[in-house]
Formats: sequence, C-alpha cells, structure tokens
Amino acid sequence: MGCHGVQMSLDEYLRKRDFSRTPEPHGETHVERKPSNDEKIYVIQKHAASHLHYDLRLEKDGVLKSWAIPKEPPTVKNVKRLAIQTEDHPIEYANFEGVIPEGEYGAGTVEIWDRGTFNVEEWTDEKIIVYIRGEKLKGRYCLIKFKGRENSWLFFKA
Ligand code: MN
Repeated sequence: MGCHGVQMSLDEYLRKRDFSRTPEPHGETHVERKPSNDEKIYVIQKHAASHLHYDLRLEKDGVLKSWAIPKEPPTVKNVKRLAIQTEDHPIEYANFEGVIPEGEYGAGTVEIWDRGTFNVEEWTDEKIIVYIRGEKLKGRYCLIKFKGRENSWLFFKA
C-alpha cells in the first residue's frame, strides 16, 4: 500500500482531531518500514478517557489497526475480552503518551501499558491470529469478529 492508501486509511483519525489542541501525532511523516520485516509493531495504550479502556494497536499496511478493549487485556488463556475496532492510527502513535485536553476527542491520559512486536499467522476480515512478543502479553492471540456486528470482536489468548 502506497502513501495514498495510508492517507485514506487515516482520514477518520485526522478528521476527529484538532491538532492545534491535541498533543497526539499528526502522522504526516511517512514512516519507512521494510516490507520484508515480518516483526511488526504491537502496542497497548491504557487510556483514561471518560471510560477507562485499553487500546490495542497492531501494525498493518503502514498504519496501526486499533481496537478499544473496555477491560484489562488477558495475559492468560480462557479470558475473553470484547474489542471494539476503532479508526486506524498513524505508526507514530505507538510511541505516544500524554494528556489529550478536556473537550478534545478522547480527552484523558494515554500511557503505554505494553509494547513489543508481533508476527501475523492469519489475517482475514473476520479472524486475526498473531504471535505477540510484549512484556505483559506473550504468545498466540486471536481476534474473532462477531457475525453481523460492524466493529465488535473477541480478543483472547489461544
Ligand atoms: Mn482510546
């Protein structure tokens, strides 16, 4: 995917934010990532917004695919979490920590809860299997999309 594809994918991210007010990255820098590099960026940000949640982000096609998880992500098997897919975020967001000001989209404190790399084992529109190498999350994780619901997924350790 070239620059145009990445820009389109970030339209919603850019539209929702006022970059004169939020310290979040604009994502206009094109981040060069080696296509042969199969170790991709994984990060979870703890986001103390109006409702505390955890933002899971996985690098794909030059952006961070993102899901909001309302409860702490599972470090063990047999714990399933709802994960609501949200707008793609720029790659630079993986390093973002800070305070989004009152009145702005996602107002509240963002801190990195876990980070590392992952490999894709399977990635379709309904099912994603990744091998995560983080500090907290380690091993094989699945995201399974609920049938007939637009953005709802289940996230669990396999
Ligand atoms: Mn969030």
